Amino acid sequence: MKILLLGKDGQVGWELQRTLALLGELRAYGRSEADFGDPDSLRGLMRDFAPDVIVNAAAYTAVDKAESDQQAAHACNTVAPGVLAEEAATLGAWLVHYSTDYVFDGSKEGAWVETDAVNPLSVYGRTKYDGEERIRASGVRHLILRTSWVFAPRGGNFAKSILRQAKDHEILNVVADQHGAPTGAELLADATALALHRIAALGGEARNLSGTYHLAASGSTTWHAYARHVLAQAQAHGAVLKAGPEAAQPIASRAFPTPAVRPANSRLDCSKFCTSFGLVLPDWRYHVDRMIAELSAQGNL
Ligand code: NDP
Repeated sequence: MKILLLGKDGQVGWELQRTLALLGELRAYGRSEADFGDPDSLRGLMRDFAPDVIVNAAAYTAVDKAESDQQAAHACNTVAPGVLAEEAATLGAWLVHYSTDYVFDGSKEGAWVETDAVNPLSVYGRTKYDGEERIRASGVRHLILRTSWVFAPRGGNFAKSILRQAKDHEILNVVADQHGAPTGAELLADATALALHRIAALGGEARNLSGTYHLAASGSTTWHAYARHVLAQAQAHGAVLKAGPEAAQPIASRAFPTPAVRPANSRLDCSKFCTSFGLVLPDWRYHVDRMIAELSAQGNL
């Protein structure tokens, strides 16, 4: 299997380099080789390699900045995935693409299923949804994997930012009225590789698996409870912090206004993915604890 990975240097892209390499011939590109700001330039890359699978982990993920940088977010999250989809359809390749809980407005009581109506509250959410639509409209065989609250030892994320702040501040105010599942990039990469393995094994029959899926860790939490868990784990690994778990104070989203509005309920029902690919997804704490252990082992706590 020839696999083209785009966005290799992001949280998910970095983990995918490891898992996808085991599936076949992998070519992995970052921003300097594949610029999503110039979507048409991606066509030549794809035609040169003629992959069987394209995995796109690149995205404009600066959620607040996107509010004032709509053109760049649109090019990267909407136009470029559309170009990838068109080219993949011509090549007869599969396209794996990641999307977000932020396509929803957070108003539902329970966990969101794939058929729920979207209503993005932010430019980021809107551009990601429009990217999904371009992929679906292209007719390419695809997996669109919507996930939430991604973290990894490498890259920028909420957990690492809380750890940084806990070294300098005695009190941390953390939003306690948004609910979701922190999802490790490692879990996403492993689940992607397993899904592709199944697709390869099924051959032509795998066409039935083409579609949109929710894929996040099991369970759910709030940013506040997540922060407390991270701080407790870090302390258990010997981190010296000014703010321990008790110093994380719950606040309401309205007390912490941001340029982009976030959904209050980001919980994703992942049963379609689990049933289709025969996987059981671990509780969110499992990979959070692994990340803290890894940061500790690297001397980065
Ligand atoms: P990261 O921000 O860690 O990585 C995104 C990658 O995209 C970076 O390597 C970045 O390059 C690259 N990129 C950004 N702009 C361009 C561009 N114009 N041309 C080429 N490459 C570009 O994101 P994640 O790994 O966390 O996200 C992976 C996927 O998961 C994305 O589709 C995202 O929308 C989705 N997702 C992420 C969530 C999260 O909490 N992070 C939550 C829900 C979904 P560079 O390194 O040079 O900046």
